Amino acid sequence: MTISQNALTVLERRYFIKDEKGKATETPEDLFHRVANAIAESDRKYDFGAPVEKTAETFFNMMTRLEFLPNSPTLMNAGRPLGQLSACFVLPVEDSMEDIFEAIKQAALIHKSGGGTGFSFSRLRPQGSTVNSTGGVASGPISFMKVFNMATEAVKQGGTRRGANMGILRIDHPDILDFIDCKANNNEINNFNISVGLTEVFMNAAEKNTDYELIDPHTKKPVKKLNARMVFDRIVDAAWRNGEPGIIFLDRLNRDNIVPSQGEIESTNPCGEQPLLPFESCNLGSVNLAQMLKEQDGKQQFDWDKLAVTVQNAVHFLDNVIDANKYPLEKIDQVTKQTRKIGLGVMGWADSLLRMGIPYNSDEAIALGEKVMRFITKCGREESAKLAEKRGAFPLFAESILPKDQPQRNGTITTIAPTGTLSIIADCSSGVEPVFGYVYIRNIMDGTEMLEVNPILKAELLKRGLYSDGLMKRIAKEGTIAHMKELPEDLRRVFVSAHDISPEYHIRMQAAFQKGTDNAVSKTVNFPKDAAREDVARVYSLAFRLVCKGVTIYRDGSRAEQVLNIGKVI
Ligand code: ADP
Repeated sequence: MTISQNALTVLERRYFIKDEKGKATETPEDLFHRVANAIAESDRKYDFGAPVEKTAETFFNMMTRLEFLPNSPTLMNAGRPLGQLSACFVLPVEDSMEDIFEAIKQAALIHKSGGGTGFSFSRLRPQGSTVNSTGGVASGPISFMKVFNMATEAVKQGGTRRGANMGILRIDHPDILDFIDCKANNNEINNFNISVGLTEVFMNAAEKNTDYELIDPHTKKPVKKLNARMVFDRIVDAAWRNGEPGIIFLDRLNRDNIVPSQGEIESTNPCGEQPLLPFESCNLGSVNLAQMLKEQDGKQQFDWDKLAVTVQNAVHFLDNVIDANKYPLEKIDQVTKQTRKIGLGVMGWADSLLRMGIPYNSDEAIALGEKVMRFITKCGREESAKLAEKRGAFPLFAESILPKDQPQRNGTITTIAPTGTLSIIADCSSGVEPVFGYVYIRNIMDGTEMLEVNPILKAELLKRGLYSDGLMKRIAKEGTIAHMKELPEDLRRVFVSAHDISPEYHIRMQAAFQKGTDNAVSKTVNFPKDAAREDVARVYSLAFRLVCKGVTIYRDGSRAEQVLNIGKVI
């Protein structure tokens, strides 16, 4: 198989099996054989028809062709003693000392195995309320988040991934104002992404500029009123300052809760794309859309037949993962197998647009995004229905809100993950994000510089005789080609980077993919450094109107340490 140098570096560092001296004992092919064989084994349980070896070969081929990849824990742990294969978990945090520290212990076991955890802290009584058994004073959700954070910090030293958490607080929790600012000016919650859980009641009050009630989760009584617009502005201000908190729309997550009989959805996984019930886990996987094209009439277009087959195989793969998985807790094993949720998503979306010559910020791209995702979910459901015929519907199907005419093997099918590492392994753009930068300058050990140029741009410039090292260095420094009048107009229109795209188009793209996605979409809306707070507020309102499930924003330069930088030497 062909694999990029960056991909090989990532695989060597964290994915390959190593000997006692820390030397990798696997090649990329070995890794994909290990994963394909371990996951195909689940077929034996159901007598799937095709021999297991055939299934393993299909899985191996789609991974080595970089058409589909499962989430990192599956690549790391399948066919190995640890065997924990899921990226996403949600754990309950109940309002007692025993339960809080039980959740910390459970999270530690999950982090050790490479999974990420989400928690709602909304059930914890507010800071300053009384503790009956001791007559003392409760320290509130934020102080406990710091304990979760410290535990994560300690565990990550020994694991393959740094632990990742999501912390959510409902907008009507009495400590909400402290929560909104809890990550500003300190490092004590740095292993968390935080999001405020918004309600329709709150959003309507914010729109009408009226008050809403804060409710003590312990006594269930209203304790105070706040002006909703004031609180909304506080969230906007904090996000404008340093990108957090994000927001999620709780009522929407629960409208799509397929088994309301099992309780409410209160949290998502760390990056926000997977809402789950307490003790549920979910394994994700992504189709690389850049590998789903074919040439027709001299133009690159989607190969819908290839996409359909890839989705069928991917759903089969992910359903098998549920059975092959070694869960970190017995309870998670049970709860996960009740709904058998899987999260199939996409990566390489921006790359496929580049290949087709369609600008990311165009109505054509928005319409195509919606079409692609609806198609994936439709094909995925058909495959899940086929699996249900052979293997049975998920155990809670009868009490789920899904239409009863087509029993499903899996409670949910689609989720769009960030694909932070998967996209490096597959050498494509991440998730449904636009390309962030087309050229980077990499410092190599002896002090020399190496240019890393987006291969699609490079090919196009070479074809037109426009490629030069000088131009590449300029693009690296200036971050975009949009203003380079000497380049052809069509190139400047199509090869847009994240900052050439207005925040409105970022959100419209997220909304387009959300329409065809069962769970949620991971997406960051990029703002330029000089964006105003009102610009952020406008995007939040637009996301609410366009029925997104949540929003994450980032204003360039607002954090001292940011992950992606324009022009900066990496
Ligand atoms: P990958 O590309 O490595 O498969 P993604 O960037 O798509 O992962 O993230 C998907 C999910 O995996 C996240 O929402 C989170 O639940 C989990 N995850 C990501 N990074 C980490 C991490 N460092 N530690 C634990 N879980 C993580």
